[in-house]
Amino acid sequence: MLVTILAHTPEPERVVAMAARLCYSPEGIAALRTGEPEADRQLIAKIMALGHVSVLEHASFTIGIEGVSRALSHQLVRHRIASFSQQSQRYVAFDRGFSYQVPPSIAAEEELAREYRQLMAAAAACYGRLRAAGVPAEDARFVLPNGADTRLVMTMNARELRHFFRLRCCRRAQWEIRRLATEILRQVKKIAPLLFEQAGPGCLAGACPEGEMSCGEAAAVRREFADL
Ligand SMILES: Cc1cc2nc3c(=O)[nH]c(=O)nc-3n(C[C@H](O)[C@H](O)[C@H](O)COP(=O)(O)OP(=O)(O)OC[C@H]3O[C@@H](n4cnc5c(N)ncnc54)[C@H](O)[C@@H]3O)c2cc1C
Repeated sequence: MLVTILAHTPEPERVVAMAARLCYSPEGIAALRTGEPEADRQLIAKIMALGHVSVLEHASFTIGIEGVSRALSHQLVRHRIASFSQQSQRYVAFDRGFSYQVPPSIAAEEELAREYRQLMAAAAACYGRLRAAGVPAEDARFVLPNGADTRLVMTMNARELRHFFRLRCCRRAQWEIRRLATEILRQVKKIAPLLFEQAGPGCLAGACPEGEMSCGEAAAVRREFADL
């Protein structure tokens, strides 16, 4: 899995603080820039505490994601407050085979891993035969599995990213999207630590919101994200 922050709003914390300042200030736009870093920090802490998180929408992050499965991307694109561009299986043909992910639970069992790899090779061979027979890539792709690799460019604003982390950094989330969400959080925290303070699974902010479905390991999860 390779996660790259391709671009983000310049000075994302500054921009969010300016938007928040506007809401509470009698001054004009020109006065918004005057905030010192400490004033910005206090203002962002205040809007977080108030739940006035719509101002976080002014900061967005564009992220390159590769070396992930189609099983992951199916889940990722369910997040509707985001923009996605995904490598096409119509316009990109995989005539020389395709790469794929092997889940750790399968990789750990030699016999299962062998069977899995054989199935992937059989899918690639079938794909090749279909293509050689003149079947277009858009139809040949029907034999490609959920484990096949894909790549995407995704843009999310900071508010949606926090929501995404809440759901997908949780131990209840599937392992691959959890790994992705955690890596994105690690990277965006370096760029905008104030915007992503306390970001992560729901149990960072208090009791686990998962109820009966809780992993029961909130203390360990909190330690994991404190060190991120
Ligand atoms: C552990 C886990 C298990 C899951 N299992 C399944 C499953 O078995 N089957 C399945 O189909 N999905 C499953 N999902 C996906 C889940 O149902 C959501 O589609 C996905 O998490 C996106 O979340 P969202 O809708 O909150 O967020 P986003 O699409 O990112 O939207 C963010 C927020 O915007 C608001 N919003 C967005 N669109 C609308 C709208 N049209 N109307 C009103 N408010 C809106 C909501 O407040 C929403 O929370 C699972 C997710 C998780 C984390």
